[in-house]
Amino acid sequence: MTDGRAPRTGLIVGSGAWHVLRRASETLSPGGRGQGEGATRPDSPSPHPSPVKGEGERQSPSPHPSPVKGEGETDGFALAAGAPHDTPFGPSRPIFEARLPGGREVLLLTRHGETGYRLGAWAVPYRANLWALKDRGVDTVLATCACGGIDPGLAVGTFVVPHDVLDRITGRAKTFFERSGLGVLRHAEPFCPSCRAALVAALAEAGLPHAAEGVCAVTDGPRLETPAEIRALAAAGATVVGMTLAPEFALARELEMCYAPLLWVVNPAEGTADRPYRPDVLFEGMATAAEQAAADAAAERVPGVLEAALGRLEGERACYCRRAMQRYRDEGVIGDDWRAWMAPPEPRT
Ligand SMILES: [Zn+2]
Repeated sequence: MTDGRAPRTGLIVGSGAWHVLRRASETLSPGGRGQGEGATRPDSPSPHPSPVKGEGERQSPSPHPSPVKGEGETDGFALAAGAPHDTPFGPSRPIFEARLPGGREVLLLTRHGETGYRLGAWAVPYRANLWALKDRGVDTVLATCACGGIDPGLAVGTFVVPHDVLDRITGRAKTFFERSGLGVLRHAEPFCPSCRAALVAALAEAGLPHAAEGVCAVTDGPRLETPAEIRALAAAGATVVGMTLAPEFALARELEMCYAPLLWVVNPAEGTADRPYRPDVLFEGMATAAEQAAADAAAERVPGVLEAALGRLEGERACYCRRAMQRYRDEGVIGDDWRAWMAPPEPRT
């Protein structure tokens, strides 16, 4: 695959989905099989971080990336070399050329590190990641994120395709336009409705338990929320909580990309279920062993759901994501070269 003019699809994934995808790809690698951690939350530290093995940390892409497909692969990715992409906001996470099991080609990056949870949600280069994908020709981003369930009706292992977001992030750069007046954009639908519909249809078709709507609260981390904070988020309407969708969703909108998340519940949020404190296990016991197994099983289904959703996104879309900045364009404040939008605009007359 090379950079072409045809719109491309980008996948931004957390640790849970990444390890599923990477394990499949490593059936081809000299290093053998992958780590195999399942889903945890929030966008989850690996319970058993593996030593850096170098494969995912390559700094130089192959001059001729050639995605390869493994024998017996049924629900994973074939990966070519990934490399960071230089942007005005620093280097992105490594971007991998990937081919889904059904043959669909995508660009893939993981927020937290290819060999373990090495970069917390609070330290992810969100702007660089989105800028890099846009620069590589991406117009659609599907994002995955493990989450905590605030709504007691959302059992662990349930997928959620949220329709709204409660952004409680502080201290992260939330806009590409911090030195200008651009970016005052309506967010009646913070996620692309076309992509959401495709994800929901894919989940339904697969017979997977899911909520077709939800409100995802996004918190700073690294610490997990207190019971009082979860009660406050619930009172504000949040049904799930994670740490990475913001500012990702807003940055995608500023670059006129369709963006929608696929979440799955990996533990009850703090205070919503009786979970004894256990100092020796992941998140000190927020999920039972059975719940961890359910979360792992859900993570295994993520690649297939993403691919089925992408298959439903071919053709025209009834969304405005790719015209989000049209008002500024019409006013002559910005031109068609989105890279120039980051510079201060000409004063209006
Ligand atoms: Zn859209």
